Order: sequence, then structure tokens, then C-alpha cells
Amino acid sequence: MTGTVHIIGAGLAGLSAAVCLTQRGASVVVHDAAGQGGGRCRSYYDVALGCRIDNGNHLMLSGNHAILDYLKTIGSEDTLVRSDEAEFPFLDISTGQRWSVTPDKGIIPWSLFSADTRVPGSSLNEYLRGLSLAWAGPNKTISQCLGGDGPLFDNFWDPLAVSVLNTESENASAQLLWPVLRETFGRGSAACVPMIVRDGLSESFVDPAVAYVSNLGGSIHFNHRLRAVNYKNDHVTSLDFGNEQIAIEPDDSVILAVPPSVAHTLMPEIVTPDAFRPIVNGHFRVPKKSKDVSFMGLVGSIAHWLFVRGDMVSITVSAATDLVAQSNSDIADCLWSDICIALDLGDCLMGEHRIVKEKRATFAQTPEQLLKRSGAKTQWKNLALAGDWTATGLPATIEGTIRSGNTAASFVF
Ligand SMILES: Cc1cc2nc3c(=O)[nH]c(=O)nc-3n(C[C@H](O)[C@H](O)[C@H](O)COP(=O)(O)OP(=O)(O)OC[C@H]3O[C@@H](n4cnc5c(N)ncnc54)[C@H](O)[C@@H]3O)c2cc1C
Repeated sequence: MTGTVHIIGAGLAGLSAAVCLTQRGASVVVHDAAGQGGGRCRSYYDVALGCRIDNGNHLMLSGNHAILDYLKTIGSEDTLVRSDEAEFPFLDISTGQRWSVTPDKGIIPWSLFSADTRVPGSSLNEYLRGLSLAWAGPNKTISQCLGGDGPLFDNFWDPLAVSVLNTESENASAQLLWPVLRETFGRGSAACVPMIVRDGLSESFVDPAVAYVSNLGGSIHFNHRLRAVNYKNDHVTSLDFGNEQIAIEPDDSVILAVPPSVAHTLMPEIVTPDAFRPIVNGHFRVPKKSKDVSFMGLVGSIAHWLFVRGDMVSITVSAATDLVAQSNSDIADCLWSDICIALDLGDCLMGEHRIVKEKRATFAQTPEQLLKRSGAKTQWKNLALAGDWTATGLPATIEGTIRSGNTAASFVF
């Protein structure tokens, strides 16, 4: 179709669709209910801390090629910080034991044949068991597939799966972890280098995309909430923004890039996941020079991942269903105690901090919920879907989100 493409939602799904379409010369109008873009992946000024923070730490890997292509297109590729090598440092807070997971250079993981380079206490058999993810049936969970205990499970598979799938291993889909492993660990160390944003999520992913789309003639309207979608037979006919109705002409099309519950409310025929998992992030200003570390996986603790940026330490807790119910001050106390151990801060007093609860951080990536992911193509000829909850074949991560936007774009233009 060659008319205007209306994109609803300026999260990364909507923005990646907009970038893709303006690059191809399409006429694009983006509408977002919020006052800024980025959705669940954004930065903002925090009064308590007196600086900009991200709503949540986002860890990416160098094998995430859609992310890298997107950033290259919008000109912000150099705003990512890459670790020097593919290394994932871990610390068991309860025992003080430290180890690193360092994927081999080639695709054959020779280092696993030596106990010295494996996760402490783990056996080669435990690693080989990971291959069973490749043929896991649709109903299998991570725990069923990988055993649910043992040194490798506790110190690698479980922390990895919980952070990638934002769902506890007992319930998380085994099938969904495999494509991530295949595209990263399965391709050797060059595809496993951890990457985080240098300045902020908005500075890397959102602001340059908004500028790119605007410079190529697209327009983006914030504070523009879609209230209803009118459709007849197999076509969307108009978009209702409350005080404004936009007619969808025969050559126009629509990409709905909103969270699943919004998509289902607007168009009840669209099947969407309906269970979610929270992520809790804690940002703490560290009053004295901390250990020289940029990120670390933690086990035997409430905290899951620790990130250091300047004098700010941030903690991520995924699938944080129990934690999210606690008060912010209780959460801060727990996380600060983990930080003091991890960074050897002794009994240092907690300073300025902020706890951010994202109650619906992602949909629950269980076998049951995966069945509710809809494809980009819909029963309406001029409407496509995008978002981390759509059927990308990947978990609800930035990589899957950007691919969903690209796919939706290719259906409408
Ligand atoms: C705390 C946290 C940590 C995360 N960590 C990682 C990580 O480490 N690595 C990783 O890869 N991924 C991570 N993710 C996942 C990643 O952020 C998401 O997968 C991605 O941002 C989803 O983007 P989206 O565009 O699909 O949805 P959203 O970001 O939810 O965007 C939807 C947009 O639609 C707008 N909208 C809603 N209703 C309407 C309406 N009626 N009209 C108009 N607009 C509307 C919203 O304002 C929003 O901007 C994390 C997510 C969270 C929350």
C-alpha cells in the first residue's frame, strides 16, 4: 500500500517499524499515548537521584543483529558499550564463590572438557543436557528440560533463563530459550559480547529514532491516545483519538504496536497473552569507590544482575512476583545488602536511591501463554501487529521487538 501508514505506539516496536518505513520512503505518522517515546525501554530524569535513569537495565548481546542494524540506521551504534570480551562474571552472595562463563571462540565449546573452565562443580553431562532445549516440545518448561537443580542449573541455566524469559524456570518455556542460545552462544564468543547503553536507553534507542523519522518527513504525535478502532469486514476504516477521528483511506494502513492488553481492548478479536511478570530495578548512588566491574550475575541473593555506571549501581530482579508486593524501602534494604557484599562495600550506609517496579514488564513466557501470541499479519488487510508479545519466535526482548516492527513494516509497505 502506498498511502499513509499510521503506527500506534512509539515503543521500540512502533519506532523500528517507523524507521524501516521512512527509510523505504513511506509516509508515516506515529501516535503514542505517552508524552515521550520508548514505552518500556526509556530514560527519564529522577528527582531523588538528581540525574537521568533508565526504567530498567537492558542487557544485550553482540549476536543481536536486528538491534545493531537498527542503531546503525538511526546513527547511534556508538552509544552502546561493549565488554572487552564475551565474559559473564558471577558471584554467589551466600558463599562468596566467584566464577565466569566465557564462551569459546569457535562454535565447538572445547573448554567444557576441562573442569577448570566449567562452572564450579558442574559436569560435562550437565552442559550436554542443554542440547535437549533444541528439541524441547511446546509444553516443556526449562526445569523439566534441564533437570531443575545441580551446579550448572543453579549457577548458569536458571539465572540465564529467568533473565532472558522473565519467568521462573519451573514455568518458563524451554522452546523459547533455544533460538537465543542458537543465535548467541551457538555462534561462539563473537556473538556473546555483553552490551549495555552508554548514556541511557532513550539516548540510544528512542531520541535518535524520533529524529530519524522526523528528518525523513514522518511525524510523531505524543499525548495522542488511540481510543477505538473502527473496522468493517476485513478493513480498518477509521481511528478514534477521542477529540479527533482519522479516516483510513483505501491506500492507508495501520500498525498496532501497543502492549497486548491494549491491543485486545481495542480489537477484542486479537488474541494476546494475558499473564505478565514484573521486573524490579533498584538504582543506588554509591558513596565510595566501588570495585571495578561493569556488570555481574548474582546467585544466592535477591538481586539477579548488578550494573555499574559511574557512581550509580543498578540492580535487576526478573520474574519478581513476590518482591514487587513489598514496600520500596524493604526492597531497597534487601538490594543494598546484596550490593555491599558484591562490591565489598562493608557496612556502608545506603545513600540516594530509587526503586522502579514495572508490574507488567513482559508477558509470562510460559508454554500456555506462547499459544496466545498473534502473528504480524491479521484478518484485516490493512492492519499489522507489532510488539514483543507477537509471534516473533523470540522472547520478549529488544531484539524480538525490533524484528517485530520490521516484520509489520514489510506487510504494509
Ligand atoms: C524493567 C525492564 C527490563 C527489561 N530488560 C530487558 C533486557 O535486559 N534486555 C532486553 O532485550 N529486553 C528487556 N526488556 C524488554 C523490552 O524492554 C521490551 O521487550 C520492549 O521495550 C517492548 O517494546 P514494545 O514496543 O513491544 O512495547 P512498549 O514498550 O510497551 O510500547 C508500547 C507503546 O504503546 C503506547 N500505547 C499504549 N496504549 C496506547 C494507545 N491506546 N494509543 C497510543 N499509544 C499507546 C505506550 O505508551 C508505549 O509507548 C525489559 C523490559 C523491562 C520493562
